[in-house]
Amino acid sequence: MNNTRKSGQEPATARDVRSVVILGATGSIGRSTAEIISGSAGAFRVEAVAGGSNPLALAKLARTLGAKFAALADPSGYAELKESLSGSGIKAAAGDAAVVEAALRPADIVMGAIAGTAGVAPTFAALSAGRTVALANKECLVCAGAPFMRQAAAAGTRLLPVDSEHNAIFQAMGDANLDTIEMITLTASGGPFRTWTSEAIAKATPEQALNHPNWSMGPKITVDSAGLMNKGLEVIEAHYLFGVDAARLDIIVHAQSVVHGLVAFTDGSVTAGLAAPDMKVPIAHCLSYPERSTTAARRLDLTATGQLTFERPDFERFPALRVALDALRTGRGLPTVLNAANEIAVAAFLNRLISFHDIARMVEEACNAALADGTAHEPETVADALAMDHAVRERARSVLRQRAACA
Ligand code: NDP
Ligand code: MG
Repeated sequence: MNNTRKSGQEPATARDVRSVVILGATGSIGRSTAEIISGSAGAFRVEAVAGGSNPLALAKLARTLGAKFAALADPSGYAELKESLSGSGIKAAAGDAAVVEAALRPADIVMGAIAGTAGVAPTFAALSAGRTVALANKECLVCAGAPFMRQAAAAGTRLLPVDSEHNAIFQAMGDANLDTIEMITLTASGGPFRTWTSEAIAKATPEQALNHPNWSMGPKITVDSAGLMNKGLEVIEAHYLFGVDAARLDIIVHAQSVVHGLVAFTDGSVTAGLAAPDMKVPIAHCLSYPERSTTAARRLDLTATGQLTFERPDFERFPALRVALDALRTGRGLPTVLNAANEIAVAAFLNRLISFHDIARMVEEACNAALADGTAHEPETVADALAMDHAVRERARSVLRQRAACA
């Protein structure tokens, strides 16, 4: 991509067209990415799309976007994907290796929007191949933050933050020297249980947890948001992304989700990133960076919002936040452990095997067990982190089996 400035929706010339791979194309972030690309008057070209287990949705998207390659993680969907793409000229492939192949297709930018730890290997492959990665998948950095950042530096590539708070902070930081930053603050909407009592939260159903007041997102992150685990994951993400320690990372609850992140400097100045709560804003920013594009994303109208409120998070009612921050402060690979156990716990909650309250309990118990038996250690490589992730998952599954047997 060259840096020629284009105004608004002026059609792009072939030289300006930016090629994109979308990992997790059928999800919430993936579909928003597709919408921005479709409305971009040809500023982007989609090289490849990858999805998990929905061949029809992936094929439809691949056709709409004119992708060259479509990869589905679930091999059992291959025949349906191939059939749905017949006559289109789009190559179909399935399995984990196919998703990595999609990640490695030539592209100016790779959107990393697979949900959960499944995104780690393909996103890391793209990064290692020198691609600029727009990173939505925070689990990559929670699971293997240090190896990811080392690889990005070694490959000379950029990780552009899609997560709204990190994107706002990235924009608010500019090229500031880290020594001049006193505090980075991430805001949290507080989720659907912001005003609930501990007793009510403990008994919350999946339907209640999935009913987020401000954001429409995939199920895993929505449940994470309801217990503020998402904010804990985001503080860990920010630690690696921006290279600041836990003492300079703060969280405030801001129910309106208008101010997404703040950067306070040593001279008392504070810069902040504001936008309407619409993921298309940070997605568009990453896709066009360092340029700006014109999108149909929601616009911020502060007079319509009226009041902006800010409050301290309640660690008593939201223990997952405390568990996540403890994991960051302790280090020794605990973010990797936390991430793995959380994914198993959230899936168990959604399958009604455990209560909402049990999610944080199970994750904390997994962290303690991993410290006690030596599983927890600072991962040197992504493979090391994924091996630890695997061991923690196995243990968490066995805890769930024991619970079921005792019930
Ligand atoms: P969704 O659940 O909506 O989408 C997940 C996507 O990943 C789907 O396309 C899914 O495919 C795909 N997928 C799952 N497993 C694999 C796999 N093994 N290989 C390839 N693709 C796979 O999630 P979201 O879009 O909400 O979130 C994606 C990521 O972005 C998460 O890490 C989340 O934390 C982060 N994020 C999301 C935000 C949001 O507003 N949604 C905000 C900030 C961050 P299929 O459709 O077939 O299941
Ligand atoms: Mg976020």
